[in-house]
Order: sequence, then C-alpha cells, then structure tokens
Amino acid sequence: MVQYAHVKKIVHFLNPLARLGQRNYSFFFPFLVVFGTCIFLEFYAFAIAHNPDVVNSVAIFLFVFYILYFSLRDGVKGGFTAVILTILYYLYIIATRDRTAEQFRASITTTIVLSGLYALLAWIIGWLRQRIDTLIESEANEKTRLQSILDQLPVGIVVANPDGTITHANKQLMAILGTKIPIGHNVYTKPLVQSTYNKKTATQNDSPLVHVLKTGNPVIRKEFTIHTQTGKKKYVLISSSAIHNAQNKIIAGASIVSDITQHKILEERKDDFVNMASHELKTPITSIKIYLNSLQKQLNENGDPKSLSLVNRLHDQTQRLQKLVNDLLDVSRLQTGVLTIAKDEVKLHELVKEVVDILRTSTKHENIKIAKNDQILIYADKLRLYQVLTNVLSNAIKYTPESGKIVVSLKKNGKNALVTIKDSGIGIAKEEHRKIFQRLYRVGEEKERTFPGFGMGLYIVQEIIKKHRGKIWVESEKGKGTTFSISLPLTAKN
Ligand code: ADP
Repeated sequence: MVQYAHVKKIVHFLNPLARLGQRNYSFFFPFLVVFGTCIFLEFYAFAIAHNPDVVNSVAIFLFVFYILYFSLRDGVKGGFTAVILTILYYLYIIATRDRTAEQFRASITTTIVLSGLYALLAWIIGWLRQRIDTLIESEANEKTRLQSILDQLPVGIVVANPDGTITHANKQLMAILGTKIPIGHNVYTKPLVQSTYNKKTATQNDSPLVHVLKTGNPVIRKEFTIHTQTGKKKYVLISSSAIHNAQNKIIAGASIVSDITQHKILEERKDDFVNMASHELKTPITSIKIYLNSLQKQLNENGDPKSLSLVNRLHDQTQRLQKLVNDLLDVSRLQTGVLTIAKDEVKLHELVKEVVDILRTSTKHENIKIAKNDQILIYADKLRLYQVLTNVLSNAIKYTPESGKIVVSLKKNGKNALVTIKDSGIGIAKEEHRKIFQRLYRVGEEKERTFPGFGMGLYIVQEIIKKHRGKIWVESEKGKGTTFSISLPLTAKN
C-alpha cells in the first residue's frame, strides 16, 4: 500500500499532464536530467564504447525529446534549460571530436539552425503549457469565488447537472440538512436525506430537483419535513428551477432550501392556542345561545318589543360569534389533520333546497333562485356539505347587493354532480382566483374590506371538498359577478 503510494507520487512527479494547473515550474530538475545525460553519454562514449562518435545520433533524438518533455513539464523555463544545455553539449561535441575544417563549419551551421528551431519549439510548447495553467487557475479561482458567494448566502443551495450529479452545495445546506453533501452524489439514485412530503415518506418523484431536471418546470415553495442523522426533525421549504442555455436546453437544476423550523414551531404554538381558545369559547357560547333562545321565547309571549328586538340582535351576533369559533376550530382541525369526514348517502337536491330556503329566510334576500335541481344521490358527509353550501351561498349573498341576483343550480355532469352558485355581485379579479382559497386570505381592496369576514370560509370549503375527492373553482371578473362551481363524484346508484 505504502509502496503503491510512492509509485503514485513518482508518476505524478514525472507526468507533465498530472501537473496541469500547477505553476511550480522547475529549473533544477531539467538541468539535473539533461546535464546528467551529457555526463553519462560522454562517459559511455569514451570509457565504455571507446568511440567518441557513438553518441552523435542518440544525442539528437534524446535531446529533442528532453526539450519537448521539459517545455511541457516546466514551461518556457524548463524548455530553455534543456535547449541551452543541449546546444552547449553539441558545441562541446564539435570541439572535442576530430573533424576537418569543412565538417567543423557545417556542424557549427547546423547547430546554429538547430538552436533556433529548438528555442522556437521550447518557447511555443512552454508558452502553451503556461497558458493552459493560467486558464485552469482562473477557472479554479472562479469556482472558489462562486463557492464562497454560495457559502455566504443565508439559504441552502444545491446545483446538479442534467444527469443528476451534484456540482455545487453550500455550507448552509449542509447545516440545514445536518449532513455532508458529497459533490458527485447522484440525486436520481439516492435522496440527500430522509424526508416526508404530505405526511408520506418522500420518494424520488417528490424531489423538486429531480422534477426540474426531468421536466424543466419550476417548483415553488414545496414543504418537506426532514429527519436529520442526529434524529432532529426540521421543516424546510424548497424551490427549484431548471437552468437553460441559449438553445433552451437544460444545463443544470438548482434548489433553494430554507429552514422554516422556528416559524413552524411558532405556527404550531399559535394553532394550539387557537384550538384551545376556540374549544374554551365553544361551551359558553352554546350556553348563551340557549339562554337567549328561552329569553326570546318569553319576550315573544309577553315582553315589550324593544327588548325583543335587542335580544334578537344579541342572538344574531352570538350566531356570528359561534360561526367564527366553529371556523377557527375547523381551521385548526385541518392544520392538525383531525378534521374527519363521516360519509353516508345524501340526497344532494334536498340539501341544496334546504340551504337555499334557510338562507333566503334568514337573510331576507329574495332574489335567490334555484334554476335546476336534478335528483342526485351522493356519498358524503351531510353536515360538512351543508357547511360548504351555506358558506358559498352566504358569500354570494354577502358580496351581492340586495338588488342583485343569485342563481343556484344542480345537475349531473358525467360521473359528477355539479353545483353552481352564480351571483351578480362585486366579482373577483382574475389574479385573486387562486388566492381566495388560501387560509386567512381576503381580497385586500377597500371595497371588499367593508364586508365582515376572516378569510377562513373558502379555505375550509375547499379542504372539505378535497376530502370528498371533489373540486371547487371560481369564474369571475371584477364588477361582473361570480360563479362558484362545486363538482362531487356521484354514487353508482344514480
Ligand atoms: P370571508 O370570510 O372574508 O368572506 P372567504 O374565505 O369566504 O372569507 O372568502 C375569501 C375572499 O373571497 C373574500 O374576502 C372575498 O373577497 C372573496 N369572495 C368570496 N366569495 C365571493 C363572492 N361571491 N363575490 C365576491 N367576492 C367573493
């Protein structure tokens, strides 16, 4: 093993290509080798072969090789050292061998021509070698510069080639993932860390980096829970995008990883608090409603109208408070994954009629019409669907002036039941269509802000619909009314 390491060292020392990018050009080594060869050849010619001319042709080939080799190994410095020693040796040979005056002149002329050629050769090869070294060095400097920029960014960064091999990973990423990321690791074959996505063990197909490399489509803020080697649980947000060249070919994929653990812990605490507070509020509100109901009854029978009107208003406000607390509880249940659905057969047409009738009476909004109400049976959680329909219809009522129109319809659409709730109200701008289904999102414009609400309704609605394997979407334009459509899978009995 040790011997092998020595051999490797020697090969590295002698191989000019192994030393590319290193600018430690030697003068001493070429001098030693060329001078040593001269001494050896002279010794051989005089002491062993007893023929001074035996080395002449060897000298030409061997020294040309030396010039090529040393200019490649040690640049212009090494090449010129070999050239100068070679020419001096040629002159020494000319001076020390018996020659006619004619031969002497010819040899001198040849040596002068050769020295020019050798010098040119040494200069070209030596210069090329030095140029390559400079290029390699500046590329290495650029890499170091890029790496130090990446290392100082406050987010984790990883870059991979189209074949999946990692080319860059910064220190922050290693700190977040709690593991070393070997450059050259292939993201197609093995994930960087164990993680879960959507509460399931993440597979290669969930990896944003793999996705962008395969499809070229960006991934925005995908949340993962990672389990570090030290057993820690961390939450991270990953965004990835493909990097294209001028010909639109993918040349790399890059991911930005942010540690949102602290933020998540705070959010969990806040959710716990909201959950606890809503639970605590639920009981007294229910009691207040019971007392108010019996007070309403008494006043209806023999109370004065003023008190009755006050109690009625109190009842309405308590109802709003109860809806708010229930919504808060549902949001918290959805966050913690404990909102369950108890499915049974539901006559959807009856439910639609019930919701429309109740809201028509309670809101005194006369212009709510049922345009179509096909008999449809679905398998669903009746109470939750009641909540969904009430929510969407209440919104339609809330955001439509009393002079406006609201049309509800229910029909079959292929293998689904389709409920549409169309209003002629204030409408929703296109860019808000996706956002209104987010938790706590309300359209931020002044007009919408005048309506009461917390932006929880549509989030809960969408989650309940998802749990029924259905879909909800909106078609609307600002100022031109809104249509919400809900599609739910039919049962086989229809
Ligand atoms: P909120 O309690 O604020 O009504 P929702 O989640 O039910 O919360 O709705 C989110 C936002 O969507 C609302 O703030 C409102 O701006 C918009 N919106 C919902 N339904 C309608 C509608 N029928 N017409 C106009 N805007 C609507």
